Amino acid sequence: MSRTIVRISAIEHFAYCPRQCALIHTDGVWTDNRHTIRGRRAHRRADSGKSRQERGCQVLRAVPLWSERLGLSGRADVVEVQGDRVWPVEYKSGTRHGDAADLQVCAQALCLEEMLGVEIPHGYVWYGGPKRRERVTLSLELRERVLQVVDAIRSQMDTAILPEAPNDERCRECQLLNHCLPEITSAPDRVVKYLEEVVFACDT
Ligand code: SF4
Repeated sequence: MSRTIVRISAIEHFAYCPRQCALIHTDGVWTDNRHTIRGRRAHRRADSGKSRQERGCQVLRAVPLWSERLGLSGRADVVEVQGDRVWPVEYKSGTRHGDAADLQVCAQALCLEEMLGVEIPHGYVWYGGPKRRERVTLSLELRERVLQVVDAIRSQMDTAILPEAPNDERCRECQLLNHCLPEITSAPDRVVKYLEEVVFACDT
């Protein structure tokens, strides 16, 4: 049986909320909110696919990526090449939230290493909020975490089991709030009680 291919973008969704990742990448649900729309606007330049020289680097945009070894595929916003050195740059419209972007840029670097036969010690994340570029060291620990997250996503996709909703502060800003209904799905007892008291009571 062929192995399920994991999209690099799923890593960020999983890091935010495993249930969000399953809804998007297993169930195919997608809704935009202000964050996703702002993110798409911020990516317009990177998505253009136009390459050019900047600061002594060749800047390649919208570069397709894949890894046979890891069963990963996706796209880098930007890949910069300087001599025989190469590194990915991920663009985020807002500010830093945990290490989701670090995991994503590390996964991009793992693909580039396999595709080009090079070693990539670091990548970058550009945060549009503070307009700052942060260097990400691609340590063994970070690489190991990427492998663990990719395995967890693949297992989630293969089993098609929807994780329980954490129903916490992440939900307010989540693009899938109206699909997920975290208040209901995180409290199945309340739903059963409601069904017993209101719906089934009508039948008696
Ligand atoms: S609404 Fe909350 S529980 Fe549901 S997918 Fe979004 S973050 Fe996860």
